[in-house]
Parts: sequence; C-alpha cells; structure tokens
Amino acid sequence: MIKFKSIYKKIKKYDSIVIARHMRVDPDALASELALKEIILNTFPNKKVYAVGISASKFKYMGELDKITEDIARDSLLIVLDTPDKKRVDVDYLELYRDSIKIDHHPYTENFCNMEYIDENASSTCEIILDLTYNTKLKLDRHQAELLFLGIVSDTNRFTTVNTSFKTFDLIHKLIKDTNIKFIDIFEKLYLRPLSEVKLQGYIAQNLTVTENGLAYIKINEEIIKEFGVDSASPGNMINNFNYINEIIAWAFVSEDKKNDIIRITIRSRGPVINDIAAMFNGGGHERASGARVKTMEEANNLIKELDNRCRDYRGDNNENK
Ligand code: AMP
Repeated sequence: MIKFKSIYKKIKKYDSIVIARHMRVDPDALASELALKEIILNTFPNKKVYAVGISASKFKYMGELDKITEDIARDSLLIVLDTPDKKRVDVDYLELYRDSIKIDHHPYTENFCNMEYIDENASSTCEIILDLTYNTKLKLDRHQAELLFLGIVSDTNRFTTVNTSFKTFDLIHKLIKDTNIKFIDIFEKLYLRPLSEVKLQGYIAQNLTVTENGLAYIKINEEIIKEFGVDSASPGNMINNFNYINEIIAWAFVSEDKKNDIIRITIRSRGPVINDIAAMFNGGGHERASGARVKTMEEANNLIKELDNRCRDYRGDNNENK
C-alpha cells in the first residue's frame, strides 16, 4: 500500500491543491475535505487549497466550499476523498489536473488517480485523514479535530459499524486528549433534527413491509414527502435509525425523485452483504451500507427481490430464524 509519507510528499510539492469527494455529500465526505484543507493550510500557509463540490444546507455549520476555474484545475494537485468510482466524484475538470491522489475506505472499484490510498478496514475517510496527519508532519488544531470527530462518529453510526476498530478508538483518544474538543456538543450538531422528520420516521415504522426473510422496505413517493413537510433526502437521513430490530436483518428505503427523474434506494444490513446487489442496479457502497439509483419501479422491485433472496440465503447459511 502507498505510504502516508508519499502522500505528504505530493502535498508538499504542489502550491495549489483541490480537494473533492463524492456526490450527494455526507458528513464523512464533507468533514474530511474541509479538515484536510485546513490541515494543509496550517502546515503550509502559503499554498492555495480549495475544497469543492455541492454542499447541502443542513451541513452549512461545517464550513463553506470553494469554486474553482479551469486554470486552477490545470495547475493543481487533485485529492479525491471517500469516492471509489470516477463517475461519482463531485468535481469539475476531472481530466485536467496536473496530478491526483485518491484517499478512500470503500471497497476498491476502479483506479482513476495517479496515487491511490485505499484502506477498506478504516472506519471512515476522516479516520484515514487523522491517521495521515498523525503519521506525517501535517499539523492539526481544534477545528479540524472537531470536523474529523464528527465524520468518524457519523460514518461509524456512533461506533457501531463493523469497521470500528481498536485503531479508531486509539486515534480518537489521542485526538480528544491533544485538542480537548467538546465532543458532546458535536453529537447535538450531528443529530439534532426537525420534528417533521421524526414524524416521517414514525410513518416509515408504521408502514414498512417486512418479509419472512427479514428484509424490510418501504416506497416513499413525493406526496408523502410533501405531506410531512420534509425533503427528498430525509428518508435517507434516518436509514441508520432502523438498525437493531429483531425481525429485520436488511432494510431499504425506495424514494421517488421526480425532479431528477430517478428512484433512489438506500440500503443497510446487519448481516447479509448488500453492496454487490446495489452494484447491479447502478449503485455501490460498503458491504452493509449501500445505495443505488434506478429509473423505474420495476427495477426497484427487482432490487428488493434480490435483497430478499440474499436475506433468505443468509439466514439459511447462519441457521438463523429470528
Ligand atoms: P447512503 O445510503 O447514501 O448513505 O450511502 C451508503 C453508501 O453507499 C455510501 O458509501 C455511498 O457512497 C454509497 N452509495 C450510495 N449511493 C450510491 C450510488 N448510486 N452508487 C455508488 N455508491 C453509492
């Protein structure tokens, strides 16, 4: 695997650096890019560093993003974070950069940067950025510590995902000890939500279909989104809240997005591997946290069928009959 030292050397070499991450931003992707930008500037104040991509209003508190021009792209090192596949990088002029590095924790999908650091065992991209910082001459202060803590907490779903490790806690321990961040305040920033979303969560709980194989799913159309006064991203925001339910081993929310003429499916599992199924339907992700995009309800139904079969096989293999 590429060494952190090589990443540091490349960062040191370029005066202009653009940091990007995947489309449909989430806290790990956004926190890692904003933190890395500040960490590079702490260490090399004379460099120009840009963090780019489309943000979301609910993450505004984390920081602002930058706009770049074609000239900047041509002159810069591109660092792509948290994105295994080229088609999901949220950046302009992808082909024009002078050099590129990918830093990611998703299962390997394809090679599209000159240097690639992929640690599938890392809990989050923020964990890798923290590890990189502690193992090179990069300098971190309190604000970046807060961002990285937030990203790790979010991507591990509060330290419950399988990739949460001794190393995760070791790094977090050092982070809190060194910077004395008020981490309880960060939980509130991350998890505070409007009552309308909680009401939608109640609707989902009441209306989930649960199969005999332990798959739960629901289809949410635009009328429901309107009725609850939420936005189309809201169902996805609460997918993790449906973990640890006796009768359910995998669960999927199917949301209609008429404006973009697509149907989004967010999938989680506490057992069966699901990312290969997501990949069959224009999606991907982690073994037990994936997403997909399809055009028709027929495709969505096929995906549900595949997931249900996977749950059946999983229970058979594990002799489980919960
Ligand atoms: P989400 O359900 O949006 O929280 O995403 C869960 C995981 O699946 C993340 O690692 C995403 O990057 C990945 N993912 C979500 N949607 C897609 C997609 N359409 N294609 C590839 N990966 C996806």
